[in-house]
Amino acid sequence: MKILVINCGSSSLKYQLFDMEHETVLAKGLCERIGIDGSALTHKPAGKDSCVVEKAMPDHKVAVQMVLDMLVDPVHGVISDVSEITAVGHRVVHGGQKYVGSVVVDENVIKAIDECADFAPLHNPANLTGIEACQHAMPGVKHVAVFDTAFHQTMPDKAFMYAIPYDYYDKYGVRKYGFHGTSHAFVSKKAIEMAGLDKDNSKVIVCHIGNGGSCSAVLNGKCVDTSMGLTPLEGLIMGTRSGDIDAGVVQYIANKEGKDVNEVLNILNKKSGLLGLSGISSDFRDVTKASKEGNNQAEIALEAFAYRVAKYVGSYAAAMNGVDAIAFTAGVGENDAPMRQRICKYFGYLGITIDADANDKFRGTEGVISTADSKVKVMVIPTNEELKIAQETLELVQ
Ligand code: AMP
Repeated sequence: MKILVINCGSSSLKYQLFDMEHETVLAKGLCERIGIDGSALTHKPAGKDSCVVEKAMPDHKVAVQMVLDMLVDPVHGVISDVSEITAVGHRVVHGGQKYVGSVVVDENVIKAIDECADFAPLHNPANLTGIEACQHAMPGVKHVAVFDTAFHQTMPDKAFMYAIPYDYYDKYGVRKYGFHGTSHAFVSKKAIEMAGLDKDNSKVIVCHIGNGGSCSAVLNGKCVDTSMGLTPLEGLIMGTRSGDIDAGVVQYIANKEGKDVNEVLNILNKKSGLLGLSGISSDFRDVTKASKEGNNQAEIALEAFAYRVAKYVGSYAAAMNGVDAIAFTAGVGENDAPMRQRICKYFGYLGITIDADANDKFRGTEGVISTADSKVKVMVIPTNEELKIAQETLELVQ
């Protein structure tokens, strides 16, 4: 059975075609600059040469058709007919409180995704555009929406409520939702398997740290807390996001700099985090290099980042009354061994010891980095959100 996974942005469309018999990727690619001059499709078929097609893509419908044409292309294609695609799984950023899992798309689902656009104005409309373009191109096929927020819907109210007037929750749904749910779901499941835990008696903490970052506490396979909030701004220090901050800072900066709330929020989202603190870059490699060269601001940024992750892990160990396994994932978590070491040095009180050689060895590959006698298993687990979307889609259409 073949499943196409689509992740649509406002001017981009990423895709992967899976053969679900062995969960292998037959082809993947990216349409860029949709609706803008200079659009291009980069197509990477498994076992064949990649190719780039530069052709106008005025909208997502044209982009989807180009992807389908490429998938059946006699030279670059990987299937002989579009009818071989059983279903399409779509990444959707926000499912609000309505969706606790993935769903087959119908008119009501489309309406609900549209209603949640208030929470994710940059993402949900783009995700919907992708769904509608695929429905147009593949009318006989089932489409499944897989929400970034769904995995976190099992959080209890004590974890998701903000201590502000209750009316704002009642009237507008102001609460913690959390993001990266597909990744947290995939990695926590894998962590349970790798650590040999009984799912119904397991306490796992996932540290998804990349350009965006979030931690989650997963008790008996279900999320009970996560660090991102109503928006992805809350929680960890990220590439360009501040993470947790006293809301009073917004007013203070606004008054001092003559800016409005939107302008200050833009700074907290796009000019803060590692970039803002280091004054160098949002990329961990650049900041690590500067720190090694003796740049103190870069060093402070890296240590502040590690400290914030360690504090979240500590609070989640408290929330679950213990922890059996900690998993690192995403760009930094999977590749940056020195950063993992920095974070783990805070975990002595948990009886955690790290095997330095193992930590150094696992970069972009899965493995256990704690010593055999460590009280908690610490692991590197590459995330695979596309595969998770394909698995969820398959489950719903089978
Ligand atoms: P992501 O958002 O998950 O793609 O992660 C992007 C972040 O991962 C960037 O800040 C990169 O600096 C970081 N990253 C990727 N590869 C490495 C690496 N080999 N060493 C250190 N950081 C890395």
